[in-house]
Amino acid sequence: MIFLTRKAEFSSAHFYWNDQWSQEENERVFGKCANRNGHGHNYTLEVTVAGEVDGTSGFVVDLKELKDILEREVVSVYDHRHLNLEVPEFETTVPTTENIAIAVWRRLEGKIPAAKLHRVRVYEMADLFADYYGEL
Ligand SMILES: [Zn+2]
Repeated sequence: MIFLTRKAEFSSAHFYWNDQWSQEENERVFGKCANRNGHGHNYTLEVTVAGEVDGTSGFVVDLKELKDILEREVVSVYDHRHLNLEVPEFETTVPTTENIAIAVWRRLEGKIPAAKLHRVRVYEMADLFADYYGEL
């Protein structure tokens, strides 16, 4: 078994808000991130797949194909978008780094031929990232 990681980047806006809570509660829990006008991040996505090296190609997965899948399933949907307002999975789910990692996993699950999705890592900034390994 070998692990291969491909990176991608996207820039998105978001805010943190829970409709079940009052404005005061949202501001208490989320601080400045509760500003409903939103703010932006340059996210870095790392997708790790696991599999066996193909004896003829030397690949676990076709790198061009993996890049195209990340572009199609994630980057084209999230890049230069307001996550809360334009991406369906964040209409009711707070777009935290943790929830973005889970959402990316759900978008990619079952879409990568030959290899198994192993880990989704999302960096919101250089010193903050979330890892998701699916339901363990
Ligand atoms: Zn933020």
